[in-house]
Amino acid sequence: MKPSRAVFKCFKWLERQGDRITGAAGPYFVGGAVILICMGVVCFFDVILPSLRFLPVTAPACTLIALNLLMHYYYVCTVPPGFVDDPPRGTGNPWLWAKKRLPAESRALTGVRWSNDVTITRASTTRCRKCTQIKPERSHHCRICDKCVLKYDHHCPGINQCVGLHNERHFVLFRAYLVLSTFCFGVLGYDQIFEALGFNYQQPWNHHVPEVVFLMEYILSVVLCLAVGIMLLWHLWSIALGETSVEAQDHDVYRRVAKERGDEFVNSYDLGKWKNLELFFNVGNNGYPLYTLVLPLRINPYTDGRAWARREGYERHRGVRAGEELTDDEDEEY
Ligand SMILES: [Zn+2]
Ligand SMILES: [Zn+2]
Repeated sequence: MKPSRAVFKCFKWLERQGDRITGAAGPYFVGGAVILICMGVVCFFDVILPSLRFLPVTAPACTLIALNLLMHYYYVCTVPPGFVDDPPRGTGNPWLWAKKRLPAESRALTGVRWSNDVTITRASTTRCRKCTQIKPERSHHCRICDKCVLKYDHHCPGINQCVGLHNERHFVLFRAYLVLSTFCFGVLGYDQIFEALGFNYQQPWNHHVPEVVFLMEYILSVVLCLAVGIMLLWHLWSIALGETSVEAQDHDVYRRVAKERGDEFVNSYDLGKWKNLELFFNVGNNGYPLYTLVLPLRINPYTDGRAWARREGYERHRGVRAGEELTDDEDEEY
């Protein structure tokens, strides 16, 4: 065995052990996250909210933010990301599902939004060599779930499952509400820090939550606001470019290869920044109303994962020749 091959096999083994640990630790991460989020919400409503002014306005606004935070975390953990062998999905409990706007002219096409301003074409398919399922383009095999996921983004231990077509919107909205709520916690809870530390002699600590718990949640909020805020901005930028996390890496390779032969790579899923964001959140023309971004409701994505909106005049990416597409299989072929 060549030394380089031995090193490669060793890395593969380490990677597989890492996957196993990530998979096994998932439920503990989710349990920890639920406890910390709920404690944060209790701290806010027990310690910070009573000190706010204009309570008839601020109390409902804070309740709505907390509700979005909790519900989107619940959704992102419990809504399956969309596996290639899943049956087509409908809608469920009318209390949790937003009502779709009636289209100007009804054109029946199951599972796929069809509008005059966007061209949606059928996805090409390949067979996954790991699970032997036929998978449409933008699907990838998750090594931890051992299944092919529609519009695979990444496997997140913090939700103990993949981020894919059906839960990616909840994932981004959860992050957005996490940043918003930790920001509010940090700014509005600043005065209570001095109370909790015992520096404010006129105002002794008279809340149900112990001082140490409040201080811990405050520090955690500040750290999370910054860290998740940066990740959220990066994720929103990828969405605006019409790319998933996996595609962002693949497209860098395509761009380099195309440039080497004097060509230019064009991502055919990129319909312009606003249109990409509109399609991702499935709002705007022929989508759902904008209030679905501020109420914790469920909605379906614009596609069933087997057809994709493309740039006008594009059937596939420009600058990538047939057979050059990167697949999940490369790492096994060495
Ligand atoms: Zn697969
Ligand atoms: Zn997974």
